Amino acid sequence: YEAKQQGRQTQVYNPSLNEQLHRRMEIELHLRKAVELGQLKLYYQPIVSTANARPVGMESLIRWFHPELGAISPGEFIPVAEETGFIVPIGRWVLEEACRQNKQWQQDGFTPIVISVNISSRQFYDPLFTESIVNLLHRTGLEPHWLELEITEGVMMDIHTALPILKELQALGINLSIDDFGTGYSSLKYLKELPVGKLKIDQSFIKHIDSNVVHTAIVSSVLSMSRQLGLEVVAEGVERVEELNALRENGCVFAQGYLFSHPVPAEVAGKLLGESLYPLGEAVR
Ligand code: C2E
Ligand code: MG
Ligand code: MG
Ligand code: MG
Repeated sequence: YEAKQQGRQTQVYNPSLNEQLHRRMEIELHLRKAVELGQLKLYYQPIVSTANARPVGMESLIRWFHPELGAISPGEFIPVAEETGFIVPIGRWVLEEACRQNKQWQQDGFTPIVISVNISSRQFYDPLFTESIVNLLHRTGLEPHWLELEITEGVMMDIHTALPILKELQALGINLSIDDFGTGYSSLKYLKELPVGKLKIDQSFIKHIDSNVVHTAIVSSVLSMSRQLGLEVVAEGVERVEELNALRENGCVFAQGYLFSHPVPAEVAGKLLGESLYPLGEAVR
């Protein structure tokens, strides 16, 4: 609106818009080659049991290190990958790498954990998706119950299209979770019909849960609803001990966040398996 008032000239030469477009084109250009040039890396962040702070799972989170552009966050390039369709080969690489790594950890004798992989809309609705998961599990030898797919509410918005795919995936024996729960169009009505076993409460609700009464109310409602429906719950973005304690008081069984560990490369993540990640090094109450 402001730009419009200032006239067409200003709009055309708006440097920040220009910069944004340039950056976006740069990302698109380089993303095309990122997989084959080996610029993508998977990091892993533990999902812990709140009772003993030991990992029960790891979420795989993609990282892109470009020799000239530096580190580019998934928040910036995943949407571009979605729009351009690059997410299909990228997502295939992520799934392969995550399953291969989890199988490797098991073969190395670590306490087995579930590996979670973020799935974007374009991937989920790809007609070959389910089949590719079957092949992947076969190829890597990972048993299906050690794999979890994280899908956002947005992806499942069109319930009638999503449901048959979710059922196919469930029939394979893999786990399904709803990521960033509470930020999308929460179709509570469908929650019990979806073949989903877990909700990941978005980090925005966890922030200051110990002092923010609105956040406490939301999270404790989600927890009691989940108990009724037989769903597991993970609290995302736990950064402070006070938040962890508030979550435990409300009966939250699983948590993830910087309090326990940042996302780390596989070599580091392997060392966390079977360890208690409670930051103060003491047994949790
Ligand atoms: P997400 O799936 O909700 O992942 C959680 C994000 O929260 C990650 O950001 C993680 O680093 C961050 N996080 C974890 N603990 C804390 C905490 O205590 N405090 C704060 N402030 N943040 C925390 P990241 O790695 O930048 O990823 C952002 C988003 O990009 C992910 O959100 C996911 O939607 C997407 N993404 C990441 N990797 C992949 C991938 O392999 N495939 C797809 N399709 N999307 C991905
Ligand atoms: Mg996720
Ligand atoms: Mg999330
Ligand atoms: Mg998120």
